[in-house]
Amino acid sequence: MAETIFSKIIRKEIPAKIAFENEHVLAFHDINPQAPVHVLIIPKIVIPTVSELSGKEHAALLGEMIDAANTIAKEQGIDEKGFRLVMNCKADGGQDVYHLHMHLLGGRKMTWPPG
Ligand code: 5GP
Repeated sequence: MAETIFSKIIRKEIPAKIAFENEHVLAFHDINPQAPVHVLIIPKIVIPTVSELSGKEHAALLGEMIDAANTIAKEQGIDEKGFRLVMNCKADGGQDVYHLHMHLLGGRKMTWPPG
């Protein structure tokens, strides 16, 4: 599968401000933050986009990504006021990087609907 810049971040070939890491998941601060807290949570394996997720293994991986989001939210002090998790899928969803990722956004009041 085609690699993206996120594979280089996983291999520590390019720098990123790491917020969380375990065997399956890596999280790092977004280079162009859209909120006071903006962290990207990604699987270490390459899955290009949400529509390629299926089955129990992927469900477990998503569960780990959400666990990571909750851990980071607590560490960043945004768990009580709340936060937003976003996964953009393909062109109409606004996806730029084709390595599955969840945006954790917080530290300000979010608006709805999204743009
Ligand atoms: P997408 O638009 O695909 O949902 O989100 C991709 C996100 O990756 C964007 O918010 C963008 O700012 C972030 N991003 C792209 N390249 C890099 C990078 O090299 N380092 C970091 N930390 N974030 C990146």
